[in-house]
Amino acid sequence: MAHEFRCCICGQKASGWGNNPWPVKDSGECCLACDLTVVVPARIKLSETPKNKSNEDNATENRAMVS
Ligand SMILES: [Zn+2]
Repeated sequence: MAHEFRCCICGQKASGWGNNPWPVKDSGECCLACDLTVVVPARIKLSETPKNKSNEDNATENRAMVS
């Protein structure tokens, strides 16, 4: 059941849940640490695009969108 993969952001081998690295990378999987420290902030930034300022409060909802 343990899934092994190499994180496409930090390059470390990891086992367990691979996280979707978008929008930092288009393919591959990233480890939980990179998801939290790199990918989630990048997604929050994307959601803060100036066209709609009322989106700010939704940013923390986006972290569990991995299948
Ligand atoms: Zn990583």
